[in-house]
Amino acid sequence: MSRFENQVAIVTGAGRGIGEAIARRLADEGARIAVVSRSESNSQKTADAINAAHPDAAKPYAVDVADFDAVQKTGEQILADFGRADVLVNNAGITRDTLAMRMSSEDWDAVINTNLKGAFNFSRAVLRAMVKQRGGRIINISSVSGLMGLAGQANYAASKAGLIGMSKSIARELASRGITVNVVAPGFIETDMTAVLSEEIRKGAQAQIPLARFGAGEDIASTVAFLASPEAGYITGQVLAVDGGMSM
Ligand code: NDP
Repeated sequence: MSRFENQVAIVTGAGRGIGEAIARRLADEGARIAVVSRSESNSQKTADAINAAHPDAAKPYAVDVADFDAVQKTGEQILADFGRADVLVNNAGITRDTLAMRMSSEDWDAVINTNLKGAFNFSRAVLRAMVKQRGGRIINISSVSGLMGLAGQANYAASKAGLIGMSKSIARELASRGITVNVVAPGFIETDMTAVLSEEIRKGAQAQIPLARFGAGEDIASTVAFLASPEAGYITGQVLAVDGGMSM
């Protein structure tokens, strides 16, 4: 399969977890990949793994997505290195869970700045190039938390719900330029982010999932690949929950 031959995809938070699965999947289907994560070591690790399977397909970039100026520079570097940007997957995200009455200003800002502003920052960095190309795909990774709210996640749910509003606005702004913007809202997925959950919380979560299990990074990667593909050309401004039925 090479649905993404001659295309360039930027995947943030691709150092591990869901982002790594997305980057590998798009590379397996022919895309060249800008692998973005916060740490050099993790972006390098994912890029090495992709290049081992597809020589010279991937390049690593380490940047804090919350830093507007640094992201604009990284975007320029990616465009200089690859010459184009067809797909942007805003996946980088963090949690700082605690009850609202205990939540610090730092916990609020860190989560909003990474999850929501980070996605704006990267979109801002590549949209002009996509407009010039007269086409592009942006896929923002939200969460069931942004759809339903989850206790202990006022900051995270706000960031993930905010992504939905932002995506619909940009989808409206740029539809006439052939750019689609969609959202994938994962439920509980097995990654480092959920590995820290206690057995009690895992059991409680599983009880709320009709398919009665956590998903895998590949479940999200295959959905992102669909939304980035020509088959999804008439879909924009939509939210697709990939959550074992949790949010229905
Ligand atoms: P992980 O914690 O496993 O990985 C997060 C990735 O994001 C890492 O590569 C990390 O970089 C990167 N990252 C974090 N902060 C920044 C930053 N400021 N700048 C650049 N990169 C950053 O998370 P998951 O794979 O589990 O989650 C991926 C996305 O999916 C997130 O947006 C998350 O909110 C969302 N999601 C996850 C769910 C789950 O159950 N796992 C459920 C619903 C949504 P590095 O590797 O360098 O540290």
